[in-house]
Amino acid sequence: MADKPRVRFAPSPTGELHVGNARTALFNWMFARHQGGDFVLRIEDTDESRSALSYQVNLLNDLTWLGLDWDEGPQKEGAYGPYKQSERLDIYTRHLQQLEAADLVYPCYCTEEELEEERQALILSKRMPRYMGKCRKLTRQERQQKEAAGRKPSFRFKVPDETFQFDDLIRGAMKFEGTAIGDFIIVRSNGMPAYNFAVVIDDHLMGITHVIRGEDHLSNTALQIMLYNAFGFPPPTFAHHCLILGRDRSKLSKRHGSVSVGEFRKQGILPEALMNYLGLLGSSFTEGREVLSREEMITAFSLERASKSGAIFDEEKLHWLNAIYIRNCPTEDLVSRLQPFLERAGYKTDTLDPVWFHQVIDLIKNDLTTLAEVGSHIDIFFDDKFAITAEAGQILEKASSCPVVKAFAEYLKTAAGNPQEIYLAAIKYTKEKTGVKGKDLFMPIRAALTGRVHGPELDKVFAILGKNAALNRLKPFAD
Ligand code: GLU
Repeated sequence: MADKPRVRFAPSPTGELHVGNARTALFNWMFARHQGGDFVLRIEDTDESRSALSYQVNLLNDLTWLGLDWDEGPQKEGAYGPYKQSERLDIYTRHLQQLEAADLVYPCYCTEEELEEERQALILSKRMPRYMGKCRKLTRQERQQKEAAGRKPSFRFKVPDETFQFDDLIRGAMKFEGTAIGDFIIVRSNGMPAYNFAVVIDDHLMGITHVIRGEDHLSNTALQIMLYNAFGFPPPTFAHHCLILGRDRSKLSKRHGSVSVGEFRKQGILPEALMNYLGLLGSSFTEGREVLSREEMITAFSLERASKSGAIFDEEKLHWLNAIYIRNCPTEDLVSRLQPFLERAGYKTDTLDPVWFHQVIDLIKNDLTTLAEVGSHIDIFFDDKFAITAEAGQILEKASSCPVVKAFAEYLKTAAGNPQEIYLAAIKYTKEKTGVKGKDLFMPIRAALTGRVHGPELDKVFAILGKNAALNRLKPFAD
């Protein structure tokens, strides 16, 4: 089959894309790109009760937004399709028949209640809960009776009483005993294939050479190896990476804060920053470098280096990286990425002078941590959004402030020329006229001009506002 590596990301569209799954996708994608292999996207949508089309749409959007382009999959048909499990049901049926013919499966008529009863009884007697094989022993006649009574069977795989092993690329030699595992369902009573069954058939038929996924799937891999053996398929190479954990070292979940790619996207995290962060988590790059471009990450990627211990998700660090990416983003590009956030914050940018607006963004971009914060940084340049904060009000109430603002305004009234020069000259004039210097000189001017006590360099703010707007803002405090 394929001689170049083929990996896959196989999400179930049962929720928004979790950053943990995005990281699995990223590992697979980097592995493929690093090795010149194929990255396949397969949608595992056989759990009809939990899958939703909207999740599927969001999933594709999120992957595209992250830049994780797939070589085959939905919207990119290849030689191994279809790439949605719900469109492959006939394939699973054929494979079930193959196992039936080899007497490796049997129908199970147990109800949920019966299974639960068995589970509780095992727990009570301090034995490991698992299916004890009740229906394996049914006679043909007993099966016919169940069918006649209208019971729809699921199909269980006969787990062999053997030892199974595989070498995990990250974890090394893994071994498990068939005796510890009950016969498991491969096709549900509604006719849909169970995950472990469909995944083995698909990974084999799609020529997947490496299965890279989270360590929470290790117990599934045990079952999958049995199915590979049963079908006589050579198993792929497995690599189970560590999971992302919250600060308390439990699996990262909603109670830790934002966990979906969509949420971070809405916050205004740049896809490059999220990718960089997820690539960094749990696996270190050369010489402790932390900011790496997509290409650098691909070059430096090595699965063996992915750490075996859980990686703690640190949102502050993600924000730190994001600020770096925002700062380094060309302003032109940033302005267009900011559009949805500006709209949401109530700014109509289409009526603005683009050169002026470019200057505004150029000035504030060093202070942005996320794109969603943009409104609270640019409001100082918009008269309808500008407001004096309590802190700035206090500065302006100080006895020494009024003469400062007054002198500054006085100079402006007759000044002409380049705004930066006007600003410097006005400061010089104010200093000489009032005898005030340092903080007491600059703070009242900043407070009156921006309504804030902190912000970008004042000479640049002044240049963007222009003399007339500045005068208007100074007026209420200059009398
Ligand atoms: N559909 C499975 C999941 O989303 C795929 C696991 C795998 O990679 O095999 O967890």
